Order: sequence, then C-alpha cells, then structure tokens
Amino acid sequence: MSKFLSNAFAGLVPYTPGEQPQPGQRPVIKLNTNENPYPPAPAVRQLLQQLDEQPAGQLRLYSDPEVTDLRQAVAEFYDLQPEQVFVGNGSDEVLAFAFLAYGKGRRMAFPDITYAFYNVFAALFDVEARLAPLDEDFNIQPVDYLEDAEETVVLANPNAITGKNLPLVALEQILQFHTDSMVIVDEAYVDFGGESAVALLPKYENLLVVQTLSKSRSLAGARVGIALGQPAVIADLNTIKFSFNPYNVNRVSQALAAAAVRDKAYFAKCCQNIMANRQLVTEGLEAQGFQVLPSLANFVLARHQLLDGQQLYQKLKQRDILVRWFDEPRIRDFVRISIGTREDMQQLLAAVAEILQEVR
Ligand code: PMP
Repeated sequence: MSKFLSNAFAGLVPYTPGEQPQPGQRPVIKLNTNENPYPPAPAVRQLLQQLDEQPAGQLRLYSDPEVTDLRQAVAEFYDLQPEQVFVGNGSDEVLAFAFLAYGKGRRMAFPDITYAFYNVFAALFDVEARLAPLDEDFNIQPVDYLEDAEETVVLANPNAITGKNLPLVALEQILQFHTDSMVIVDEAYVDFGGESAVALLPKYENLLVVQTLSKSRSLAGARVGIALGQPAVIADLNTIKFSFNPYNVNRVSQALAAAAVRDKAYFAKCCQNIMANRQLVTEGLEAQGFQVLPSLANFVLARHQLLDGQQLYQKLKQRDILVRWFDEPRIRDFVRISIGTREDMQQLLAAVAEILQEVR
C-alpha cells in the first residue's frame, strides 16, 4: 500500500479469485472457479475465426454503448422487452452497479455464507451490510429477510458455495414484504436445474434478476453478465453505467454473447451434461463416505470426516486437480468442486479414492 491511498480504502480486503493456471504450466483438471468444461456454442467459435470481419472485428471503433443486439437476443430468449435487459462486464460489474444503485445510503441484507463479493462490494461502496446466518443445513431462512422493509436484499439462488436452492414461493414472500426496497436475485447458477425468478418480473417492480454468461454459456473469459428487471429498474442501472463506463462491454464479447444466447439447443445440451455429471460425482463421493450438499449449481460442496477441507484441497492439488477451499468458519471442512466433464469427474473420484486409502 502506498501512502497515497485514500484512507477510505486502507482497510479494504479485496475478493480473492480462484487460481488461474498460466499458459505453459502443467495441465490441471480445473474444478475451482465453476467454469464450464465444454467450449462455447459453435457459432461463437465461428465468430472468433472471423475476427477481422464484421461484426466482431472492428476494434478501431468503440463498442455499442446500448449493447443493442445482445439485449435483443436476451429479450427474445426470455420473452421480455429490450428495455428490461441490462448488460455488464461480467455479472460482477452488474452486481457492483446494483450495490451502488440500491445499497448506498441503505442497509443491505444477505446470508453469512454466500458469494464473497457481496461483502467486498459493501465495503468498497460503504454500504451497511447485515449478514443473516444460513440454518444448520445451510438453507436460507426466508424469515430473516422479513425484518426491515427498508433494507435491500441480495440472494444468490442457487446460493453460491452451497449450491442450495430457495423455492420461488419463499422468494415471493420476501418480494411482497419489500415493497419499498429492491430484492436482487443473483442467478449465476440457475441454468443447472434451479427455478428462475424471471417469471416473476411482471408482478414485482422491486425485483432485479442478475445472471451471467460465464457458467452455463461457457463465456467466463468474455466477461458478460446481464440484469433483467422492469424498465425503470434497468434505467437505474444505466444511470450508474453511463456515469462510470459507457462502453463497459467490449465489441467482441457483445457479438460472441449474442451468438451464444441464440443457440438454445447447444445451451440446453451443455446444461443437461453438467447436471448428469453432477449426479455422477455426487453419487460417487457419497459412495466413498462424503457428505455432499444437494446442489442445483455447477458445483458441489462436499466433506469427509477423515480429512479437513484444506488437506483434501492440497492432496488433490498434488495430483493436478484444482478445487476450491474456503478458510471460513462454517465451511472450513468442505471443498467446493466445480462440475467438469464426465472424464474429469471420474478422475476426481479416482484421486479421492487414492487419497482416502492413504489417510485410512
Ligand atoms: N455471482 C455468483 C454467485 C458467482 O459465483 C459468480 C462467479 N464467481 C458471479 C456472480 C460473477 O460471475 P461473472 O462476473 O463471471 O459473471
């Protein structure tokens, strides 16, 4: 830290992303950042091959600040109007804008165990945060969000780190209570079996649904996230965006993302494969004595009584398998394993069997 940093950020603890191995490093089975193991849709690859041509190639020019074509593609996918769609540089940026728009000067409530970035955004933007503990089984307790009608609520659904799902009826209870404050639902993982709150948009002006193309559409490296809401809410996000970075989504990513969204069949197939692989690894781990939280995301949180989370993480890493371990009080015993290909999951299960033999 230099002596010039504003005092406001002197104590800021930034988000720690999962390891990203560098090119040229030994290949690993990468199950640590919930990326999709399958490549993006074929049309995305075709566009990448024609980068010198229209529409992705004209890098001399700024990107479309209105993100017109991609918003159109998303609107068609969800049967919404383009005015109900916002696009950000990853859903991290969308969430940051939502924290600014609906958090500043208010309190925000979210679970004690959830996407770690919420705390970081709250600290960065000086938003008061209230952490509501998940119950013993790591479920969100809806009643925790029926305390203060003024506070903004942020829920990842399925929840990050746990993979557990909150039924839409519970979400509706929360939406109905918060008539004067926003409820932000982060659906980064919804396409792997969850129930989207998009269907509730006509009923609730206080609902903002945030999604990403990083997971179910295999575009983590392109950095594209979206928000869906009533037009007035989307206008709020545009006020923030046009006050910060009007060209927030680059030209190439806009084109690639639109192609990915339009290929519904490929998307559906990838999600089905991930769900099948999730079942395979869940059953395989359970057969070896693991507790696996029931997940509707593209990862599972699992623990074994013979090993703590850090040991398992390290022993897998020695075998060139990267998973994620969080040094956090309630989840220290667990590792989070992203769902890979069928072969990735088989290799993981074999490695785990070896490790268990070693420690028995
Ligand atoms: N929300 C949740 C719950 C996540 O786990 C992630 C990915 N780490 C994000 C949002 C951000 O994803 P991205 O910025 O790649 O869209």
